Amino acid sequence: MSNSTNPLALCWGKWRALPLWAQILAGMLAGIVTGISLGESAIHLKFVGSLFVNTIKMLIVPLVFCSLIVGVTSMQDTQKMGRVGLKSFLFYLGTTAIAISIGLLLGNLFQPGAGVEMTQEVVSSAQVSETPSLAQTLVNMVPTNPIEALAKGKILQVIVFAVALGIALVLIGDRGKPAVQLFESLAEAMYKLTDLVMALAPYGVFSLMAWVSGKYGIDVLLPLLKVILAVYLGCLLHIFGFYSLLLATVARMNPLRFFRAISEAMAVAYTMSSSAGTLPASMKCARRLGINKSISSFVLPLGTTINMDGTALYQGVCALFVAQLFGVDLTLMQYLTIIATATLASIGTAGVPGAGLVMLTLVLTSVGLPLEGVALVAGIDRILDMARTVVNVSGDLVATTVIAHSEGEVAEAEAAVAASA
Ligand code: ASP
Repeated sequence: MSNSTNPLALCWGKWRALPLWAQILAGMLAGIVTGISLGESAIHLKFVGSLFVNTIKMLIVPLVFCSLIVGVTSMQDTQKMGRVGLKSFLFYLGTTAIAISIGLLLGNLFQPGAGVEMTQEVVSSAQVSETPSLAQTLVNMVPTNPIEALAKGKILQVIVFAVALGIALVLIGDRGKPAVQLFESLAEAMYKLTDLVMALAPYGVFSLMAWVSGKYGIDVLLPLLKVILAVYLGCLLHIFGFYSLLLATVARMNPLRFFRAISEAMAVAYTMSSSAGTLPASMKCARRLGINKSISSFVLPLGTTINMDGTALYQGVCALFVAQLFGVDLTLMQYLTIIATATLASIGTAGVPGAGLVMLTLVLTSVGLPLEGVALVAGIDRILDMARTVVNVSGDLVATTVIAHSEGEVAEAEAAVAASA
């Protein structure tokens, strides 16, 4: 039988012709159905997802390192670099503080802690981490050994070293050219590799979704449904309300066009629960948005590490959940402390699954709330993590778009605005 009449080959051809986002969506839905039908035994499918996650993790350090150096060296103008860095930092801190306020508001509206019974067995070994001081956070950002930072994947330290090396290469002028060319060529190769790896996303997503829905099922979710609802509603409001507003007013970009362009990164973030892991997909989406690489390769990796709007929002809801659970009335000062701690703590937290739960212990201890609540939230954390990571990743891309717009570095948007004028 020839290939054109073989039904399997035909189906495969049709499947391959679908755009990647549609393949990922199909993988996600099929994964949920499979997980719910298989239940706990869906864990056997998890290895495909782990394979995908490892493949994508393999890209992170070399991609960040090479593309950041290229980003910095392509700016040439050190003043512009400083300006973009400062804008990103302020933007990230501001939006994070707004996110946590939305979380606190929803926590008050939904009252998720009222009526939930604490069970003793969940009172666990949740570990308290110390709130890092601002000085300590700054000191930790500089690697004492850059090779160790690369090998251990300490992204914030890798960023600092790459920026410093990039600046040095600019400062030595012509003598830096061969090294710059080498990094440019490596960065191109990493972009290509990202495209290849992303083609595996639908299968990885299928397997991870089957695992999550098989593990949690529908029943387990019901008692904590209010927390889930509040976090999901908050995430939706933050993405489609607040971000849309920023895009439309500050970046003068049609939010629909934006969300269509980043849907792939959102789907990957939702299933991987890791903004660091989503970085390659985010870079690809930034290219699709027409954002100049000199901006995206600098602002995106920075955002991946220091910008966690979704995590902050989740902490607002959860802090109130725990307070309500234990009948604690929070004072205004405690609300402000929660906002400050979550915003500060988000700077040093890696974009990996579950990092937000560890940060929650910081937030709770900062206002003297009991940590038993963390154990309760831990049971549903993955589901919350999926949503908050989508916000984290979308926030990074919004920041990149807004900053690129302010620097006049959005190719297609400028063209689109010109065309519609
Ligand atoms: N998973 C989140 C991220 O990678 C961090 C968190 O746990 O909140 O962005």
